Amino acid sequence: MRKVIFERSSKGIENSFLPDINVDIEDYIDKELLSEGKIGLPEVGEQDIVRHYINLSKLNFSVDNGMYPLGSCTMKYNPKINEEIAAYREFADIHPYFPIDDVQGMMEILYKSQEYFKDISGLSAVTLLPSAGAHGELAGNFIIAKYFKDKGENRTKMLIPDSAHGTNPASAFMAGFTSITIHSDKNGDIDIDDLKANLDNNVAGIMMTQPNTLGIFDSHFTEIANLIHSVGGIVYMDGANMNAMLCHVQPGKIGADIMHFNLHKTFSTPHGMGGPGSGPVAVVDFLSDYLPIPVVERNNGNYYFNYDLKNTIGSIKEGYGNVGVVVKSLVYMMALGREGLKEATDIAVLNANYIKESLKDYYHLEYPGLCKHECVFDNSYQKENGIKTLDIAKRLLDYGFHAPTIYFPLIVHEAMMIEPTETESKETLDNFIEVMKKIAREAKENPEILKNAPNNTPVRRLDNVAAARHPILKWEKEGNTEV
Ligand SMILES: *Cc1c(COP(=O)(O)O)cnc(C)c1O
Repeated sequence: MRKVIFERSSKGIENSFLPDINVDIEDYIDKELLSEGKIGLPEVGEQDIVRHYINLSKLNFSVDNGMYPLGSCTMKYNPKINEEIAAYREFADIHPYFPIDDVQGMMEILYKSQEYFKDISGLSAVTLLPSAGAHGELAGNFIIAKYFKDKGENRTKMLIPDSAHGTNPASAFMAGFTSITIHSDKNGDIDIDDLKANLDNNVAGIMMTQPNTLGIFDSHFTEIANLIHSVGGIVYMDGANMNAMLCHVQPGKIGADIMHFNLHKTFSTPHGMGGPGSGPVAVVDFLSDYLPIPVVERNNGNYYFNYDLKNTIGSIKEGYGNVGVVVKSLVYMMALGREGLKEATDIAVLNANYIKESLKDYYHLEYPGLCKHECVFDNSYQKENGIKTLDIAKRLLDYGFHAPTIYFPLIVHEAMMIEPTETESKETLDNFIEVMKKIAREAKENPEILKNAPNNTPVRRLDNVAAARHPILKWEKEGNTEV
């Protein structure tokens, strides 16, 4: 039975090798601020502490110990040197209140990053302030709302395809819009007729993910953008999937007016509980003075923060964004260069199609066409034996793979969304494919093993609802059901 650190405590064990300090603490801290009792930290020797946490860490799955095919999240391997550079004291120890003249190097990094994202997006101005994709969406929607308010127009509708990430309607709602769902057609593109039926002068814009969450590049993007523009609306492109088009397509050139990047998906920052993220937003020229403040500008070789944007939506974040993440992304972009980024995209797309083609006879594809960086299967070939997508995902854990994203996008019933990313080797992809085939065979021959999976992980299948509502935060002791 695994113990929590408090259960490892033995009275009197200490790790302090320093003599007691020879001062009266009450000379320095007001008596009423001092706690009366003991704070009750566990008393455990250093070696046991180290073993405790190392063993705990081995229970976890991470991209450092196996493939993580989580669609929509881009869980790729990120070069450790980028982390190391971002952690240099010269970057990490800078405080936002330092005089700007003393931190011109960091200012140059921010400026250069803005320029790179302008170039990649094909748009005119960039803010690095948002902390994540959803935060970027929110900033973008605030910009759209303010733009129409300043024009004296009361537009309330934000069009959002049914394949969208849940953050899209949420961001639109928070900026005061009503989200209108636009259906997809049988190819997974936006249904143009449905779009046209919803077009009028009340449309503030559209939020379109490109390529979308089916991994499909909507070939009508420009036509859709033109339709939105024809009623005076704004085209917001959700750029969470930019790893499928980097340096091949500039969104601004195909009709996007605003877009966000997810640096923690595309540009070398670990995603999901890996620390802070960053969601820079790029805008078209006529929206450039709506950006949140400040933006970094240059004058005679000197970098400074410009707080003086005429129509700015104001401040959206303390400091200047999550600059450590921005440093990593700039290192990544400079190391790869334009051709390297292009190649990363090529390989991401190749890998996804390799998996799709290798598994298409084993798992059903609702949208079988060429995909971009991810592909979406479902359980149609397995369901006759009562196998759900959840069972397949859980069985993958038994074979040492993380589960893919499941039950998203919502328009595919029992969806299983796989994104290999560009950083997995062919050997790993082949292993993954073999295991998926094996699971497809098991689904026919031995469905119970899937229904009970995972069978050999530290924690077996959780009751999701109970786990969310009544989390057990402590390992149960023998004969002790106290939680
Ligand atoms: C991840 C993602 C988002 C949200 O980004 P966060 O950084 O998680 O807030 C939005 N749209 C799509 C398509 C995504 O994949």
